[in-house]
Amino acid sequence: MVLCDVCKSRPAVVYQAHTGMRLCRECFLRDVVERVRAEIKRWGMIEPRDRLMLALSGGKDSFVLLDVLSQIHNPSRMMVVSIVEGIPGYNRREDIEKIVRYARERGVDVVVLTSIREYTGLDLSEIVSMAWRRGVKESPCTYDGLLRRRIINFYARVYGADKAVTAHNVDDEAQTAVVNILRGDWVGLLRQHPLAPPASRRLVPRVKPLRKIYEWETATYAMLRGFKFQETECMYIYLAPTLRARVREALYRLEQERPGSLLRLVNTLDELLEGQARSLSVEELPECERCGEPTSPARRVCKLCELLERAGMVSPSYQVPYRWGRASLP
Ligand SMILES: [Zn+2]
Ligand SMILES: [Zn+2]
Repeated sequence: MVLCDVCKSRPAVVYQAHTGMRLCRECFLRDVVERVRAEIKRWGMIEPRDRLMLALSGGKDSFVLLDVLSQIHNPSRMMVVSIVEGIPGYNRREDIEKIVRYARERGVDVVVLTSIREYTGLDLSEIVSMAWRRGVKESPCTYDGLLRRRIINFYARVYGADKAVTAHNVDDEAQTAVVNILRGDWVGLLRQHPLAPPASRRLVPRVKPLRKIYEWETATYAMLRGFKFQETECMYIYLAPTLRARVREALYRLEQERPGSLLRLVNTLDELLEGQARSLSVEELPECERCGEPTSPARRVCKLCELLERAGMVSPSYQVPYRWGRASLP
């Protein structure tokens, strides 16, 4: 029997490739919590009095975010928003219901369940097929990303949250960084930094406490805590492989060959960009003429309104009901 490298008393059950250590269940779970705590502290991501809006999708990462944060932050100062995309076979109702039950058990009482259909009038898959029929080559992930960000920010703002919290892990962060670099999106790269201020006062600051935790670690953590999940991959990743999907594949192989690569990449960028990220200004972004939400400096109509128009939705409903407390699944 191999003993844990930390406590030297319990049997090791996890091999942590990036540190070369073998850990028991307890020491592994504690390691994840302590690394999240350290990352939050390092950048002053969350203050004790902050009201947090957690964006949870129902997968393992959202379970880990909820479980770890409720050990670090007061759950009565946490709220949850969960968005159903409306992609056949993906982001299923049961997963979200399980997470919501778990959040309530932990003492989170504001839970908002909403959907892309509720916000725009159509499911994501309907928007995507309309766009494709009209020859718009935009990836479904672009629509999904824009819509999710918009809806999360909307609820964080109307519910008075100080921070919007997402479950992005180090794999996600490394992919985004490499995609930003390959596209030459220097501002996007800086905006990823934990010290970067939001681009507008109408955007609630976004924080990512799991940004130094590997995806395999969130899966292992969830499993060791007895959270049963089925990883369903979104079908669009096969239909329309994006640059991000290719980068993900390449980084995955690199990490297999040289464990710790992704963590070192993100840590290096954190240190390199700290000064510039800190001095980014909060410019008052212009308001979109159609929806009134902040848009890029050179734009009169925001990217989301533009994309939906190209898909054939001239006047999306953007009807978001304002709900307090217990909400039902749409
Ligand atoms: Zn141990
Ligand atoms: Zn707009």
